Amino acid sequence: MICVSIGRGRHRHMIAEHRHLVEQGARLVELRLDYIHGQVNLKRLLTNRPCPVIVTCRRREDSGKWSDSESSRAMLLRQAIAEGVEYVDLEEDLATQIPRFGETKRIISFHDFSKTPDDLSALHQRLSAADADIVKVATMANQPHDNLRMLQLIKSATIPTVGMCMGEIGTPSRLLAGRFGSPFTYSTFHHERSLAPGQLSFHEMRNVYRYESVDTKTEVFGVIADPVGQSLSPVLHNAAFQAKGMNRVYLPFRIPAEHLEAFVKDAQHLGIRGISVTIPHKESVVRLLTKVDGAVRGIGAANTVIFDGDAALGYNTDYRAAMTCIDLATETNETDEAPLSGMVALMLGAGGVSKAIVFGLVRRGADVVVANRTQQRADNLASQFGCRTIPWARRHAISADLIINGTSMGMHPNVDESPYDHRYLRTDAVVFDTVYNPESTLLIKQAVQQNCRVITGVEMFIRQAAQQFLLFTGQEAPIELLRESLKRATGAVKL
Ligand code: NAP
Repeated sequence: MICVSIGRGRHRHMIAEHRHLVEQGARLVELRLDYIHGQVNLKRLLTNRPCPVIVTCRRREDSGKWSDSESSRAMLLRQAIAEGVEYVDLEEDLATQIPRFGETKRIISFHDFSKTPDDLSALHQRLSAADADIVKVATMANQPHDNLRMLQLIKSATIPTVGMCMGEIGTPSRLLAGRFGSPFTYSTFHHERSLAPGQLSFHEMRNVYRYESVDTKTEVFGVIADPVGQSLSPVLHNAAFQAKGMNRVYLPFRIPAEHLEAFVKDAQHLGIRGISVTIPHKESVVRLLTKVDGAVRGIGAANTVIFDGDAALGYNTDYRAAMTCIDLATETNETDEAPLSGMVALMLGAGGVSKAIVFGLVRRGADVVVANRTQQRADNLASQFGCRTIPWARRHAISADLIINGTSMGMHPNVDESPYDHRYLRTDAVVFDTVYNPESTLLIKQAVQQNCRVITGVEMFIRQAAQQFLLFTGQEAPIELLRESLKRATGAVKL
């Protein structure tokens, strides 16, 4: 169950939000009395309430807004109990002052906004001893491993326990709480009105992550990155799992570089079956894998990892997707020996995506020329794969059959930028822009005007996600749904 926290300054807004949430499907809400400006009128908030409530009144030291005395706070919570609210939230010290009464269930809560304490089980024992029906522990995650410790606490507890790690690193603990036995988790009415760091909106929890259908058998997938907030992969993969009726969920894991190894060790305990890997982990993850395919070995980077028992297997679907796109546009076949031989390919950029594409182009026999703003990176890439370079300023001097943008030029918000002057585009060239937000980059628009064949970053992105889906599930991905989900998420305009 998802409990939605409501914190509004005026009674009528709190009541309206409560009603609206129930219409949206909420079955439990938390009324944050400390948000109410002035005198709290409990009767007004509670009479004819449309669903069960948790009454909470958080003081400032626990990141609440209550500024009146402790005795008046205790009085208000006692009054809520006398009114017969379904749950009341009491911090440990207050719990000893407020006895059990009537049917109201007691949530004994603990907050730490700076860290996840070392000894969570001793803390849990103390809270349980305060006549708890439910124990609530909310702590700041400073490292991804804190999530596993919190989830293991929930699982091992004998009293129902709502545990969550706060902050962006802690998001997985909020989404996986139910899988480990938490009776509910907290969300917010709207993502811009979080009442605690890292809290997700009711809509996201319910409709993107399908929290209410996550159970002990749910297989976990996700993307690891730092930062991770901008990743569109959760929207795509969760939509695909849902469409296929699969008991699987896909989460965003923010993993700082120094915690990658610990995360890979924790993956199995978190129930993780597969992950997408992105910046900054694509190269560093390789040494942590037990087996990699030829492309990962050749490129030195993986963007997909499958966990199978103790084995961690690495793949590179960026490379595969880009090659499929090129094969289709050039009407070549990957099974042919050197299908791109005789073609000149100009690779603009020398970062991660360029590396994966250059590896594939060289394998297919193309004559690859790399141009990059920073010459040293172009030189490194060219010497790794045995191809040529040209200075960035002279990139238009090459007559190329295939022009590929592997830079981030043209990406939102810099939509007026292009890495290539359209006056040099040959009408018989294939132009491939890896940038996918927007789909119609300036380079793509100009190439379409020149009647060039084009490959968009959306096409590549969808194909790499579809290949990941196949590796994750053994089933073909619903490609059209992935495309629609991506376009909706980026607001991209159709070509
Ligand atoms: P990366 O490793 O950080 O490389 C960035 C590249 O862009 C470098 O070559 C960099 O040149 C160049 N660059 C950045 N700003 C520039 C500018 N103002 N002028 C000229 N060059 C500039 O990043 P990446 O992972 O390779 O990603 C690059 C692009 O590929 C991104 O737009 C990303 O969205 C896209 N991508 C698409 C897919 C897909 O599935 N469609 C998958 C992965 C990536 P320097 O070396 O001089 O810094």
